[in-house]
Amino acid sequence: MDYESVFVKAIDALQAEGRYRTFADLERCAGNFPRAKRHGPRGVGEVTVWCSNDYLGMGQHPEVLAAMREALESCGAGAGGTRNIAGTNHYHVLLEQELAKLHGKEAALLFTSGYVSNLATLATLASKLPGCVVFSDAMNHASMIEGIRHSRAEKRIFRHNDPEDLARQLAAIDPARPKIVAFESVYSMDGDIAPIAEICDAAERHGAMTYLDEVHAVGLYGPRGGGIAERDGVTHRLTVIEGTLAKAFGVMGGYIAASTALVDFIRSHASAFIFTTALPPAIAAGALASVHHLKASNIERERHQERAAATKRKLRAAGLPVMPSASHIVPVLVGDPVRCRQVTDRLLAHHGIYVQPINYPTVARGTERLRLTPSPLHSDADIDCLTTALSKIWDELDLARVGAQRTNGLEKANGLEKKETPAPRSAHTATRRTRVAPAREEPALP
Ligand code: PLP
Repeated sequence: MDYESVFVKAIDALQAEGRYRTFADLERCAGNFPRAKRHGPRGVGEVTVWCSNDYLGMGQHPEVLAAMREALESCGAGAGGTRNIAGTNHYHVLLEQELAKLHGKEAALLFTSGYVSNLATLATLASKLPGCVVFSDAMNHASMIEGIRHSRAEKRIFRHNDPEDLARQLAAIDPARPKIVAFESVYSMDGDIAPIAEICDAAERHGAMTYLDEVHAVGLYGPRGGGIAERDGVTHRLTVIEGTLAKAFGVMGGYIAASTALVDFIRSHASAFIFTTALPPAIAAGALASVHHLKASNIERERHQERAAATKRKLRAAGLPVMPSASHIVPVLVGDPVRCRQVTDRLLAHHGIYVQPINYPTVARGTERLRLTPSPLHSDADIDCLTTALSKIWDELDLARVGAQRTNGLEKANGLEKKETPAPRSAHTATRRTRVAPAREEPALP
């Protein structure tokens, strides 16, 4: 077999469709976020990053950096092994205690990423509970889909953020069978927020466990950064809360928080926990400092929400098609992969602004978009520059503005503005609705 030609053809197909991904060669500048150096064909330049998931800029926070430096000097570089074999460090223990407290749970368990925590926990729970059925929100992230798939348990997909559909589906299953309801709090491509209490009502009525991914909410919502569940006062109703240390906390790693018995069960059975080297102590120390800081400080959260609102307001005032979003995420609809790429290429080449285009399979075809993530560190001038640049590019490419009557195929884009539930973003939704490749072949980007 000519293996090389298989690879080349697959890449050619992505390029022909306009959704071949390239990554800018960036060097983040600590102390100067959201600026970064960009290494390009004509040397090094400065860009403003508008798509980072370091939502609060904690990746450059002095307390985080100091904690990491200290741990690096005192413990060295790596963890020295898996947690089972010499890899458990005191910083891991302290961080797990801090995370358990943050979510009001008895215990917590660290993983090397949020992706791994979802994969490991859902795969283990759903495979080890005999006869388990998993009820998965239609927009769940690829890591949850992978975990459920890996478990080989029966899976039912409920309509996105729809507790009534969930309740109907739960009622159709033998009450004696174990059940897990898996969902997210903030959905990161559309920025909408789950009705957690109503989902818990349905789950409780039917004796189901609840598994909530708070990856895009921890550090950002709730009086101590405990996420949407904390903001809504429903933390105690969730069986498992899963989070990341890589986004609002600005470092790296993932975790679950739950009862002592459940955490011990996952620690003892999940191969993606058992058979991989633990996070470096300096990473755990940095994350600990970040969680600790954001538990006590609201300044970053308040400024973050204010910046997100200001960005939405200015873009909307310019007639740009900002999609409805109840959170800090600012999605701007383009509706075509080639044009989406053209917008981001022009932003980078002519305006020094870095935004990654969001294409299928991360979002459904026809809903390609820019996903902007304003941070507390974006100034008014940054927002103005972005708005002016996008407005210019919208004109250059003759893209649809909100409310405009156009005949270039982008009416759909404006139509989406009014929809309550935008099209699917996850591969398993896409499999169900549009019959396309599953997540395993083509995982969604964050
Ligand atoms: N869960 C959701 C909803 C995500 O969007 C992501 C990644 O972006 C993850 C989990 C994985 O988290 P991490 O980046 O820490 O692996």
